Amino acid sequence: MPHTLDPELRRALSARIRFYNEMGIYDFYRRPSSDRAEEIVTAVAVDDLEIAVSTNQPESGEEMSPRKAAAVATPVVEADIFEAIALKPEQSVSDPVKALKIIREDLGDCTRCVLHKQGRKQIVFGVGNPKAELMFVGEGPGADEDEKGEPFVGRAGQLLNNMIKAMGITRESVYIANIVKCRPPGNRQPERDECATCSPFLMRQIAVVKPKVIVALGATAAKTLLAMNASMIQLRGRFYEFRPAGVRSNDPDWDGCKLAVTYPPAFLLRDPRQKGEAWKDLQMVMKELGLKTPAKASE
Ligand code: URA
Repeated sequence: MPHTLDPELRRALSARIRFYNEMGIYDFYRRPSSDRAEEIVTAVAVDDLEIAVSTNQPESGEEMSPRKAAAVATPVVEADIFEAIALKPEQSVSDPVKALKIIREDLGDCTRCVLHKQGRKQIVFGVGNPKAELMFVGEGPGADEDEKGEPFVGRAGQLLNNMIKAMGITRESVYIANIVKCRPPGNRQPERDECATCSPFLMRQIAVVKPKVIVALGATAAKTLLAMNASMIQLRGRFYEFRPAGVRSNDPDWDGCKLAVTYPPAFLLRDPRQKGEAWKDLQMVMKELGLKTPAKASE
């Protein structure tokens, strides 16, 4: 049964969370309970420091270690405490250029997944207008992107540029990024765990840029962003309501955006007959953004 948090305790918890944030610790984990499915525990462990809050009181007769007993003695945490826990360092910064820089610095010389030791030359963070209304998200960098450190700069990038131009806008006016920021070897598809490890940084970039529309280029991008498993045929042809997972924008007026799915440019290079279909997707996006344009997408 939910309890209201004692104001003193709430203040103490908020102060402790701020303290961790100031030490550069923003990621807190939710500790699963093996024996009690309904238990929600949020815990922070730094050296031998640990705080935890739980919705459950220990059941009578249950053996507990002193630390766990101390932890679960605290009643439920209210929603705003969880929000405080989820605060990211860039959220207190209003300038999107600075906010994106903070995310890039947080990423560092990333070694969080195996891609860092599979031949990547550099991290490909993202490029474009930090206040873009339209954002394109691809799967991951290829050889050209790895070389240059910028997404979509090879042949597929040329085609993406043409698609953007056909919409009556410029590459500089949009923001472009990928699900994974390091080149998968041999241009293989990124693995699920690689997408899961890297995509929180993309979610943070999205929350900073606050686009009106995101175009997911291909199934990997779409499935990761939407956290659903479906084919391109099922995914295309409609808008989804999208909110970046695990992060909030610092703009109370931005509560997510629309997301459309289309074929990735590399696929269109292999099967140009599908360009017409991709153009239909982009026209749907243009209508949403109030863009008027030239009639036809060309290569
Ligand atoms: N280039 C990118 O940056 N991403 C892709 O998904 C494909 C090519």
